[in-house]
Amino acid sequence: MPDELLEARGLDAGYGRVKVLWGAGLTVREGESVVLLGANGAGKTTLLKVLLGLLPAWSGSVALAGADITRLRTDHRVRRGMAYMSELAVFPGLTIDENLRIGGQFAEPRALRARMEELYGIFPDLAHRRRALAGSLSGGQRKMLGVAKALSGSPRLLVMDEPSAGLSPLFVSEVIEVLGRFRGGGLALLVAEQNVTFLDLADRVYTLDGGRVGFEGTVEALHADRALERAYFGLK
Ligand code: ATP
Repeated sequence: MPDELLEARGLDAGYGRVKVLWGAGLTVREGESVVLLGANGAGKTTLLKVLLGLLPAWSGSVALAGADITRLRTDHRVRRGMAYMSELAVFPGLTIDENLRIGGQFAEPRALRARMEELYGIFPDLAHRRRALAGSLSGGQRKMLGVAKALSGSPRLLVMDEPSAGLSPLFVSEVIEVLGRFRGGGLALLVAEQNVTFLDLADRVYTLDGGRVGFEGTVEALHADRALERAYFGLK
């Protein structure tokens, strides 16, 4: 049975005349966690933006739960269950509560209220400061708010751009722990990272190099490839 939730094929995209993605494709299955590894400038953000419809695909296709969404507007993709956590993650000029409401703007009001209470239970630091501006939080707390905001719409697929950026190892493990809870409830994840920080939660890994997908496989298979292991794990 096909259980592909997200399926991207042959994506070309870029900025102006500059082509950044060269036939990039990947699959995320229902409830699966996929990590997209790529160095600075490899095209990770560009690929995620095309998946969300924030940047048009020049060619290729994106399907969500079997439906072609290549030309769908971002808000319609979000209504269908996608959520995006960018590197900035939150609106600093809005309160914590307002950020969560924006994250869940397409949810039914009662469902959103229940979800926000659930999230405040998981993130007590945020619960204590609901009316504080997101910009007043520390970097780590801001990222936590970013995770909560992305989850407040109860997505089926959460797409995250470098969640570890600017986070201490302690916060990274906290984010992984929180995501683990939602994975248990069927949430699928696609996490773009420059390093191996989030591999603990990966069912499968893709590598992106110069806008092209290279390796695809399990974390064990990545370890078994000595060149890739050297590139991403920093081993001799
Ligand atoms: P990073 O870790 O730095 O975010 P990345 O893998 O996410 O890297 P992208 O941000 O997708 O990479 O950038 C890929 C390429 O596209 C880079 O060469 C970058 O300079 C270029 N690029 C990104 N955004 C734009 C833009 N708005 N206009 C022109 N070129 C861009």
